[in-house]
Amino acid sequence: MTVYQPSSDKAGDDEERHGLLSNVDEDAEVHPVPPQSNSPTSSQCSLGRNWKLLASLCALVLLTVVGAGYLGTYVSQNPARQKEVLFSNGTHEFQRTVILISIDGLRADYLDRGLTPHLLDISKQGLRAKYMKPVFPTLTFPNHWAIMTGLHAESHGIVANNFWDPATNTEFQYNREQSAWNATWWLGEPMWETAERAGLITANLMWPGPPTTLSGVSPTYFVPWRDRVPLQEKLDQILEWIDIEDVDARPELILMYEPSLDQAGHATGPMSALVNETLLTIDIFARNLHNSLLSRNLSQIADVIFVSDHGMGDTSTIEWVYVDGEDILGETWNNVTHHDGWPSMGLRFTEGTDERIVLDKLVQASKNPEIGSKFEVYTTDSYAGGHLEEAVPMPPRYHFTSNERIAPIWIVPNLGYALTTKTMGEAGMSTGNHGYDSDEPSMRAIFVAHGPFSHGAKALSSTKSQPSVWHSVTNDVYVMPGFANVEVYDLIMRLLDIEEWAVPTNGTCGFWDAYVDL
Ligand SMILES: [Zn+2]
Repeated sequence: MTVYQPSSDKAGDDEERHGLLSNVDEDAEVHPVPPQSNSPTSSQCSLGRNWKLLASLCALVLLTVVGAGYLGTYVSQNPARQKEVLFSNGTHEFQRTVILISIDGLRADYLDRGLTPHLLDISKQGLRAKYMKPVFPTLTFPNHWAIMTGLHAESHGIVANNFWDPATNTEFQYNREQSAWNATWWLGEPMWETAERAGLITANLMWPGPPTTLSGVSPTYFVPWRDRVPLQEKLDQILEWIDIEDVDARPELILMYEPSLDQAGHATGPMSALVNETLLTIDIFARNLHNSLLSRNLSQIADVIFVSDHGMGDTSTIEWVYVDGEDILGETWNNVTHHDGWPSMGLRFTEGTDERIVLDKLVQASKNPEIGSKFEVYTTDSYAGGHLEEAVPMPPRYHFTSNERIAPIWIVPNLGYALTTKTMGEAGMSTGNHGYDSDEPSMRAIFVAHGPFSHGAKALSSTKSQPSVWHSVTNDVYVMPGFANVEVYDLIMRLLDIEEWAVPTNGTCGFWDAYVDL
């Protein structure tokens, strides 16, 4: 056993149209669950596009297994990872620790408003990406699960906040416990499951996802979703975990979720005073967490990473597009049985509907100069009508076609437009919204990291000749180029030294080599 004594950094050195989960357990209890272990995987990198096929196959297998009523516990014959390296903060032994915090709806350029001096200061001491690119659709649940699993939505199965699954004839609803906590919806392996399999202790403070996966694995500590929990209460919970006396009971991976900024962005728009005020509270939280770790002499032991799931667009002057209007679908809309993924519309139809007729109307509408600039029309792998010459397959950059949960025809509004029908009308549209093209700058998320990994990254940059990978700008601010959020899973595996337990992802093999010298 190696005990590492840090040498520096002493203390003082310094939704959319709807709301978020509203009726999931009101009690914010901490539920300790014994960690379980099972077999490690071999060390693997991204399977790239092949993963789509594998994921589809896995989804089929999982559905078949669930359909057969199997809900057994995942038990291993192999021992958990041996914990060989301990660090000391001077008073206690620590495992290497990672704290991953998601601030819902923290748009990348919010950090340039001069309202987040502490987050920027943290990024100066550590590193910051120009932006982190969300997966499509740029919605909360698909992106939080993408960060957890390293998979695009077509692979991890949470293809929107609300969507229909033709395999089970049921609807996923993010704000209903029976689906939000039902493991059969959530494909792929979240990083906390991998860490638990590797024998680590994990803690989940409200990060979206089920409390237990299909394999029967749970975080050791789990705090369920509850709205309007003060940030101080969340900080207290994190520190309570950090301060656990017994190193074998203390979490090494801590996840936290905070929705207040997204709620403010929806309510009054990204340019509003409420967003700016909420940014200030987020920044104070970041400062307090940073100082709390410094006062415990943990800056060489704990990595803190702030991310967000997506940005926020200004929809205060939105133009409504009536999909059932005579100039688009007209009465053909009556054949629509489900429309998934608002503000987009993934359309499903009554049995016997000729999807070619629907697609033809949409394509014709998109050629109308009055309408064409307002939305895009795409077909996916589940489209059964044969492709019209004019039809556009879902863009490959969305990685959003190869899953039967993805409806056959999608209408994706361009920024500035919102889809509706005569029945739905124009009520309830928020002043800010997301869900649009994942390449839209206003949809971009953040990545800010501080801790031993980021310090090492700076040192690495001076010893490796990879100037194009990232750069240092004035005031010692290190800025990584924008990167996809499906890369985060592999980073956490590396920081926790459990890469040999990692599962395949849509991340890029070797992506973190330029930043992590571990
Ligand atoms: Zn969100």
